[in-house]
Amino acid sequence: MQWDAIFVGAGITTLACSALLLKENPALRLLVIDKHIVPGGYSTVFRRPKAGATFDCSLHKLSGMGEGGNLNNIFEKLGLYEELEMKYPSDYFCCFKDKSGCPLPNDATQTQEVLKQAFPAQADAIDTYFEQVAIYGRNGYYQFQMLDGTIEPDIEQLRYAHKHLKNITVEEGLNALFDDPYLIEILAAPGIYVGGYPEDLGYLYYLHVVYATLNKGNAYVVGASQKLSDVLAKRITDSGGKVVLSNPVTEILTDEHNQAYGVRCKKGEFYSNSIFINTSPHYALENLFNTNVDFSTVLKKLEALKPARATTTVYLVTDLPPEQLGLNHTESMMFSEAPGEAGKLRKAAEQSGFDEALCEQAFWQNSPMEVTNYHLLDSDGGKVICLNVLDSIDHWPQRRTPEYREKKARAGEVLVERLLQQIPSLRGHIEYQEVASPRTYVRFTNNTDGSGYGAMVGTDISGHVFHHKFPIKGIEFVSAWVAGPSYEAAFGYAQVKAKKWGQYV
Ligand SMILES: Cc1cc2nc3c(=O)[nH]c(=O)nc-3n(C[C@H](O)[C@H](O)[C@H](O)COP(=O)(O)OP(=O)(O)OC[C@H]3O[C@@H](n4cnc5c(N)ncnc54)[C@H](O)[C@@H]3O)c2cc1C
Repeated sequence: MQWDAIFVGAGITTLACSALLLKENPALRLLVIDKHIVPGGYSTVFRRPKAGATFDCSLHKLSGMGEGGNLNNIFEKLGLYEELEMKYPSDYFCCFKDKSGCPLPNDATQTQEVLKQAFPAQADAIDTYFEQVAIYGRNGYYQFQMLDGTIEPDIEQLRYAHKHLKNITVEEGLNALFDDPYLIEILAAPGIYVGGYPEDLGYLYYLHVVYATLNKGNAYVVGASQKLSDVLAKRITDSGGKVVLSNPVTEILTDEHNQAYGVRCKKGEFYSNSIFINTSPHYALENLFNTNVDFSTVLKKLEALKPARATTTVYLVTDLPPEQLGLNHTESMMFSEAPGEAGKLRKAAEQSGFDEALCEQAFWQNSPMEVTNYHLLDSDGGKVICLNVLDSIDHWPQRRTPEYREKKARAGEVLVERLLQQIPSLRGHIEYQEVASPRTYVRFTNNTDGSGYGAMVGTDISGHVFHHKFPIKGIEFVSAWVAGPSYEAAFGYAQVKAKKWGQYV
């Protein structure tokens, strides 16, 4: 059977792209194939019925969900609000240090005022920072509209950003404005949403992340990320397409003219001249092509495409609603007592060749820890709290070894203790605990090094064009590795791809 397009992987970029393609071309017959038992990739849940819990594998914040937000516009276009109920939290996040919390509201102007009150000596620099977000962050956020002419760019602003902001890291950008290490840590924390620490991320790119998440509103889907994935997957099957699960793709089939013509998987062969790859490109190049084609140029470019950080996650269930136990905010960021030290420790850990003890100290003990109270977002999922730290796979032993099991237990202890240090009233109320490591993330998604956010967007973005002039015809890449991290980036990229459909066939 011949399909109009086959998607390898049912992650959110695939599902968004399929929905948008079908919106433009309802007659298309699309086939989506995934190795997992449910569609969505990271946009899925897993259940622990005995603990009364449904754990969201990724989502805690959909950015761009306010008026004029890009994701909001696409949700409207797709009629998703008719099928999804949204929750709009009042917090951006609450900052915790030394057992004291400072909530930042989900509103840029209010957050600016809160920070000026908390750090009066930095007030002028705070104003400059929020101006940068409003100008350069906004320009980055609306880049597609500027390219297609629907928003008129201010050339002077673009020139300034290109000259002064594009080539510096978040660390450099924030250090140029501020000298309070705690304030710098707080402002750098949204980098966690895209898998980067201040030393990793490009400043201009980061300003757009802050603009997307803080200035353009954010929301959560009631029913968790799985609800969104299921609604999108149903659109494919309702229009005559298919979503085939538990079916790993083992090969992308190519002919003697270097044209892709289908895929081979566990459940047989499927045919199409248009193959969309949702997996990590490194994984695809290493595992899915069996041809003599010269990939050396692509592989060289891919060397420059660095994975974003991986995540270590602790999933918790409490006996009482977490908000009754002192975790009053949907999201919190927990900082170490010596915030300025975290970056130095991370660099020392990496320079040591990922010495285990140094890595644990740097990534688990000292770097910011993101905490989501899922019960406040969607109580049907149970009394669930999730703890996330960005991590590196390099200090994690192989799965199924005693060292790995010990390390997982240690990660759980360290991160939970950090939570309890900041919110002592939670002590004695945790009934269930489970840990996901960077190796867990690789196992479930095949993302390189367990990256949760595709490619790192640093100051060098030369690797991001790895797919240009790809030597096999009929291949497109659709994932966080090309779209950029986040659900909003996935839908934005999918929209661009869907508009270009005619060019693929
Ligand atoms: C802990 C965490 C929290 C996050 N929180 C947020 C958030 O709050 N807001 C936000 O916007 N973003 C968040 N993100 C980022 C966001 O989840 C990702 O950017 C996005 O989900 C990536 O989607 P993707 O389309 O690239 O595919 P992926 O989710 O990476 O899916 C790839 C799919 O390919 C499949 N696959 C791989 N190999 C094969 C094969 N051989 N055959 C068949 N199928 C295969 C996998 O099973 C998987 O389903 C978070 C990420 C993580 C890890």
